Amino acid sequence: MPYRVTVREPLVVLAPAKLNLGLEVLGRRPDGYHDLVTILQTIDLSDRLVLEPAPRLTYQPPSGIGDELVARALRSLAAKGVVIEARLSLEKRIPVAAGLGGGSSDAGTLLGAFVHAGLPRSLATPIATQLGSDVPFFLDGGTALARGRGTDLEPLPPPNGWFVLVVPELTLAHKTRQLYAALTPADYSDGLATLRQAERLRLRQDLDPRLVRNAFLRPLLAFEAVRQALDAFVTAGTRWAWPSGSGPAVFTWCPQREAAEQLTLALETSGLRPILTAPLKPSWEQVRTAITVEQLH
Ligand code: ATP
Repeated sequence: MPYRVTVREPLVVLAPAKLNLGLEVLGRRPDGYHDLVTILQTIDLSDRLVLEPAPRLTYQPPSGIGDELVARALRSLAAKGVVIEARLSLEKRIPVAAGLGGGSSDAGTLLGAFVHAGLPRSLATPIATQLGSDVPFFLDGGTALARGRGTDLEPLPPPNGWFVLVVPELTLAHKTRQLYAALTPADYSDGLATLRQAERLRLRQDLDPRLVRNAFLRPLLAFEAVRQALDAFVTAGTRWAWPSGSGPAVFTWCPQREAAEQLTLALETSGLRPILTAPLKPSWEQVRTAITVEQLH
């Protein structure tokens, strides 16, 4: 079904990073994907999608990113007959290939903006799923339990508190693919710890650090920079720190703001560049007034 998406007034849509508040891999599926149980959480560290009125679509992807996901999303929309009238640009702030889902968020948040403006979800979701397992989550963002290959989503209430994260230097071609390939059945688990954590959130209880698992921890510990970052958290007095996604970003959760600030200072003292961040639920208010979607006959 053809649609026209028109940007009526300039707007900036924040495309937030995500953290995995636990990521268990259950096993490998016949289709080559892995079955996961994970809790996804958007945080207030964001890329910026800048949309302006224009008679036709223009988009220049940021330099240095091959096969850019926003460009792919736009091509898929065009292939489904969606005509976009906008000038679009992307300002990157989220570290790339860090386990923070920046690329997935850029594409998923753009699709989410169009959906919240009136584009049918049934049109956008298959595009998101095809772009990547994390992408459908960003159509709404917030907090969600993700199962299957990561695309079966159940919204959850957000956790309290703050997160402190560090992104160690790790240059690994096809990082996510390589880390999945490094998993062995010993890294698999039954998902129950993460399901119990999800139940705590449903009951609006605090996160339980003892229930956080990450299947990629063992392969990530092969990298000196990841070990150093995790050691720095311990030296700074933190009992728990975990990778997000397939890393190399590592983070901890602090129920109190003051403790998060102290930890940030302590990590800076050990030469790292920590990021103090909080859960963020995207607001789609502005999108509804600035973008119109019409069905074309
Ligand atoms: P994943 O675990 O899915 O690999 P990630 O969170 O580790 O994700 P991203 O920042 O999403 O990392 O980037 C993953 C890959 O996607 C990068 O290697 C990059 O080349 C590619 N990519 C495509 N488009 C983008 C984009 N807009 N921003 C960042 N990376 C992008």
